Amino acid sequence: MTEITRDVVIVGAGAAGLTAANELKKAGLSVAVLEARDRVGGRLWTDVIEGAMLEIGGQWISPDQTALIETVDELGLETFSRYREGDSVYVGPDGAAHRFQGEMFPVAPETEAEIARVTDLLDEMVAGIDPDRPWAHPQAAEWDAISWDAWLREQSDDDEAVRNLAFATGSAMLTKPTHAISLLESLLMAASAGSYSHLVDADFILDKRVVGGLQQVPLLLAERLGDDVFLNQPVRTLEWSDEGVTVTSDGMTVRARRAILALAPVLYSRISFVPALPRLQHQMHQHLSMGFVIKVHAVYETPFWREKGLSGTAFSPYELSHEAYDNSNHGDERGTLVGFVSDLNADGVFALSAQERKERILTSLSHYYGPEALDPVVYYESDWGSEEWTRGAYAASFDLGGLSRYGAYLREAVGPIHVACSDMAGAGYQHVDGAIRMGRLVASQILETRAEDGSGS
Ligand SMILES: Cc1cc2nc3c(=O)[nH]c(=O)nc-3n(C[C@H](O)[C@H](O)[C@H](O)COP(=O)(O)OP(=O)(O)OC[C@H]3O[C@@H](n4cnc5c(N)ncnc54)[C@H](O)[C@@H]3O)c2cc1C
Repeated sequence: MTEITRDVVIVGAGAAGLTAANELKKAGLSVAVLEARDRVGGRLWTDVIEGAMLEIGGQWISPDQTALIETVDELGLETFSRYREGDSVYVGPDGAAHRFQGEMFPVAPETEAEIARVTDLLDEMVAGIDPDRPWAHPQAAEWDAISWDAWLREQSDDDEAVRNLAFATGSAMLTKPTHAISLLESLLMAASAGSYSHLVDADFILDKRVVGGLQQVPLLLAERLGDDVFLNQPVRTLEWSDEGVTVTSDGMTVRARRAILALAPVLYSRISFVPALPRLQHQMHQHLSMGFVIKVHAVYETPFWREKGLSGTAFSPYELSHEAYDNSNHGDERGTLVGFVSDLNADGVFALSAQERKERILTSLSHYYGPEALDPVVYYESDWGSEEWTRGAYAASFDLGGLSRYGAYLREAVGPIHVACSDMAGAGYQHVDGAIRMGRLVASQILETRAEDGSGS
């Protein structure tokens, strides 16, 4: 068993933990990052599957994600735009594929008017929400007590309008059934991206990718930390007192003045805290849960849809794969489509055999792109639900009423134990940008306590 002493021990080598570790090290503190997996990056994972480079986890960057953009620039990484020439496709209740341009789906004029009216209302509500303090809004408790679906149904009788409004924050973002998330969680999701309109604008929210894959961000951040990153070290026990912490993983013991839990909060309960965490944390952490989405990758010899004048962008609240995009790699002649199957639909297809699931998902993609979509040369499903050290995708959100009840306490340190994760971010909530922001914030909080700790100077 290796025993070391550092100023700060960081549990988890995702974007949040590695950002915090780099900030602290730059300021002169000594750090150790303990990572459960045999790789860094957490929910960022770029891999080659049957010869195709795939972004198994997070990949897109939007223009408002300035913390991530700064990091990407600082690391010297190159970005490229998602392919978006040509028509998008919408499959409506008639089951037919309708081509369209712009942001508004090709729906009946009265449905379009309903979508526009409720979108304006949502933008107005979102403008009043501080993404760092959604619980501070005067109507927070009221908006947290009604489900996203129930609120939308109160606004409109038009089922197609409601389904289209619902999925932007539901299946597409929080990846839970719309009856399981509150209106307030939906507003936070939208506020974290600047507005509800931003979320539904694929050209904004899914703007750019990193050449060679987004996992290079954590890989390069880890490279700067060198021997201070320890892989295959799932942390099992964290002993703490006013004097500091002792963290024990399978192969190491680290003594430090402070600890940062840089893992998804749903996994805190995997660690034995000695003494136990306070009542508030015990309760609060039970009200958070991961969403669930399958990211489906289908690679073809050519991007055949482009020859049909299609951009690859496709949506339908009636389809198994509710959204899909051209996800071809930079400079790659082959074409890649990425589709998403969320929450209840994901449960449904995981009850099937792998072959049946693949057939069902590819059939759904063929409704957007035609029969050529049925025969990819590489097919892969990112299944984060079965990853022991993540347990879902994309991130965690509170149950109905949980955000207004507990949100204000989620980022609070307990003695020497600090926290950082995309799942507690304001701007960039549930995104890499939010993870980096939380990593920076926790590092600055620890640096403020430096005089008190007498560490690293
Ligand atoms: C399929 C998918 C698609 C996504 N798409 C996008 C996208 O396009 N754009 C975007 O911005 N975001 C996207 N995201 C979200 C984004 O990837 C995450 O929000 C972000 O990477 C989370 O970073 P983090 O550091 O907060 O947490 P994580 O990446 O989860 O890192 C936590 C780390 O802690 C480790 N850990 C857990 N428990 C322990 C323990 N006991 N001991 C030691 N280590 C432990 C884990 O192994 C992990 O490495 C996507 C996520 C998924 C899964």
